[in-house]
Amino acid sequence: MRVTTAFNKLLGIPGANVVSVTFSPEGVVVGLRYRRRRPICPCGWRGRAVYDRSTRRWRHLDLGAVKLFLEAEIRRLHCRRCDRVRTEAVDWARLGARHTRDFEDVVAWLCQHTDKTTVTKLLRTSWETVAGIVSRVVAEHVDGHRLENIYRIGVDEVSYRKGHRYLTVVADHDRDGAVIWAGEGHDHKVLEEFYDLLGDEGCAQLQAVSLDMGGAYKKATDAKAAQARQCVDPFHVVKLANETIDKARRQAWNIERRTNPAVKRTRGRPPAGSSPPPNKPRWVKHTRWALLKDPDDLNDNQLEVLHQLRRERSVLYRCWQLKEGLRDLFQLRHVEDAAEHLDWWLTWACRCRIPAFVTLSRTIRANRDRILAAIELGLSNSKLEGLNSKIRLTNHRGYGHHTAAALIAMIYLCCGGITVELPTGR
Ligand SMILES: [Zn+2]
Repeated sequence: MRVTTAFNKLLGIPGANVVSVTFSPEGVVVGLRYRRRRPICPCGWRGRAVYDRSTRRWRHLDLGAVKLFLEAEIRRLHCRRCDRVRTEAVDWARLGARHTRDFEDVVAWLCQHTDKTTVTKLLRTSWETVAGIVSRVVAEHVDGHRLENIYRIGVDEVSYRKGHRYLTVVADHDRDGAVIWAGEGHDHKVLEEFYDLLGDEGCAQLQAVSLDMGGAYKKATDAKAAQARQCVDPFHVVKLANETIDKARRQAWNIERRTNPAVKRTRGRPPAGSSPPPNKPRWVKHTRWALLKDPDDLNDNQLEVLHQLRRERSVLYRCWQLKEGLRDLFQLRHVEDAAEHLDWWLTWACRCRIPAFVTLSRTIRANRDRILAAIELGLSNSKLEGLNSKIRLTNHRGYGHHTAAALIAMIYLCCGGITVELPTGR
């Protein structure tokens, strides 16, 4: 068997035949020739004449440990439909790519499953190359259809670059929280961009929008989709309660530190039988997880911390009761009881005389109806909360995301419900 025949069978390149195989220091270079005579514009128009020719190389999947390149003459044509000179489309690679479709699909599939270092090391490419590939694959998969039949969406902000920059992410509640849109920034204009993209008809179709307690997304939704019920994600309520209890704990710690400074240890070994001096501020500092964690997940030490706080009638114990009282709202057996429970909690919290929780109760009161709407409509927080952590993981995996566009492409790839088919699966 001739070597070109062997490579023809081995590679099965669509639309072309192998005409040469050479071994170079970079790897194996396989020369190709199109089966078709006339060049085709990416728009689909068949050219008559060739404008000019050049040679191009595409990296293909490795042959064992050896890199494999495809090389072919690529032609430019003057397309009448596009009314300009364009490079012809080839069957084995995406437009403008220097890697074959198979190689790019493998990269995209790996990016969905693992981190940056693994992808770049396994495939011997740079992260910039990977980012370019991801945007090309995503552009092919993301089409206008994803914005059709949208009824219940969730909007959230995601921070990146160590919290200095933000993206606005829109997810579809009815499609398992798949991301349908992401944009740079977190003010009302960004979300309005999405509503504009959805169009008047799409906006009118919206039934519910779940969002955070800030004003920006509310403003955009009021302006563009006024008929949609606005809900505040339970996830954001619980998060705010957790932040409040952390604030209260820090205040308690500061008070302890002032009134009860830690006893400095004296030099040398402490006398036998003596216990170390109690360090109250430090103890308060370490109550953090006992206060924050789900009570069902507490370990014995953390439970003991809670018991001690109760015995001391500590203000932190009341804070914890308030936080759990609010969390109970989302675990009620009967949805009809929600309004009553929330009102009971608001009365309790606004009279508790703990500044942090009084502030919290005001915020919750201002959002009362939107919080109850989320419970009534059963918009589960778990999907969006999961999405939030998935995006954070995506961001973390590619800590080299220099541009928002690269991160957005990666979010579409990993959280947009895109299925990348591997060459081996076809
Ligand atoms: Zn064209």
